Amino acid sequence: MTLRLRDDLVATAQRMSALGLAPGTTGNVSVRTERGFLVTPSGMAYDQLRGDDVVAIDRDGAIRPGQRTPSTEWRLHRDLLAARPDAQAIVHTHSLYCTTIACLRRPIPAIHYMIVRAGGDEIPCADYATFGTSELAASVVRALGPGLACLMANHGMVALGDSLPGALKLAAEVEQLAAQYWHAIQLGQPHVLPHDELDRVRAQFAGYGQLRPPGRGPRR
Ligand code: 13P
Ligand code: ZN
Repeated sequence: MTLRLRDDLVATAQRMSALGLAPGTTGNVSVRTERGFLVTPSGMAYDQLRGDDVVAIDRDGAIRPGQRTPSTEWRLHRDLLAARPDAQAIVHTHSLYCTTIACLRRPIPAIHYMIVRAGGDEIPCADYATFGTSELAASVVRALGPGLACLMANHGMVALGDSLPGALKLAAEVEQLAAQYWHAIQLGQPHVLPHDELDRVRAQFAGYGQLRPPGRGPRR
């Protein structure tokens, strides 16, 4: 089971890199396991990653010897997975537009209805702390609250998911929202959707997409 999960983690990290969301060796990815979690190794080129480069960490933070050095952000992944039992996977990126807005230490407001995908009425920005520290982990846990994504001041963004592809999909959607926000503020003051409209959007999303396999009823 873990072998397959290692390959899935590598595939997600490579896709994150190929999508341009994590320049160079920035960003990292984790997925929950029975004992704790798996996380990408620190500072390795994504296109060279293999399943056995992935690092297994116990939920108490114990790292068995004989493995690659884990991502410097392993505490961020550990603490988020502990704080959010609903999350199965986490993607952290330095994607361009999220990082740009995060350098202003601003949240992304509801300038597009897709904001609800990130679990709230806006995407908050976590306070700055040095990368790889417990302080940064605490700051992100605090800013995220019950949400699914947040910016990280002067650093990047983080997205949670119920699966590896789900976390990556949300990271890409949040990058799109950050790009839309950046473009909009070049032109003026974008309109922000109010809470009651976002409630209607949430209700619409409850019935969105292919919820049932296609039936065999008569063609219309
Ligand atoms: P790692 O290569 O150690 O995962 O660090 C990348 C990063 O994004 C640190 O915040
Ligand atoms: Zn980072």
